[in-house]
Amino acid sequence: MTDAAAADSGAREVPLSALEHYDYCQRQTALIHVEGVWSESAETVRGDLSHTAVDLPGIQRRRGLTVVRSLQVWSDTHGLRGVCDIVEFENGTATPVEYKVGRYLPGGPAELQLAGQALCLIEAGFAVPTGYVYSVAERRRHPVPITANLLDRVVRATEAVRELMANATLPAARNDSRCRKCSLREDCLPELTDGRRQSPSDLLTPRPLGQWRD
Ligand code: SF4
Repeated sequence: MTDAAAADSGAREVPLSALEHYDYCQRQTALIHVEGVWSESAETVRGDLSHTAVDLPGIQRRRGLTVVRSLQVWSDTHGLRGVCDIVEFENGTATPVEYKVGRYLPGGPAELQLAGQALCLIEAGFAVPTGYVYSVAERRRHPVPITANLLDRVVRATEAVRELMANATLPAARNDSRCRKCSLREDCLPELTDGRRQSPSDLLTPRPLGQWRD
């Protein structure tokens, strides 16, 4: 089923944040958006604190530029919905800015979430040539060109997330370097759920937390 057909049929909307989770780890997406699992870590708390300024809805105007904080956006065509941290509007152009606590990763999951916001703003009638990922750790913005390829990735990821949300089966764990930083590690138990056979004696052998297969 296409996104448009899914939206018409009343299928579940996909949260924009799920696009980032999906790009990071499919199992993480299912744990959060299907099972409702959430655990805090130092990183998630830092993320919440760094969002304090942009989580308060508000509008500022200066010299032709309108800056809106915490703006709800959606796409009826693709069944997407979420909140932009900041959108700057000027002469029919919208520029979303997504805040991330860590360092900027070119081509990383944050760009997919940002492009999802861009897709919603384009559907609302704005031109969106560029967005920015603001790294709190680096205290700087990184420009992200909103290309047709990136928007296409958003559409495909939205379909995949919707399928995942309709499916009762959790994807196997990745059990690689990404698990080190994942706040759901203790809920996920990647060493035991990566789909590789474990003998009973393997399961009972004490080992240090975090033996990754990468
Ligand atoms: S611990 Fe690893 S496999 Fe499990 S949800 Fe996190 S990233 Fe995914």
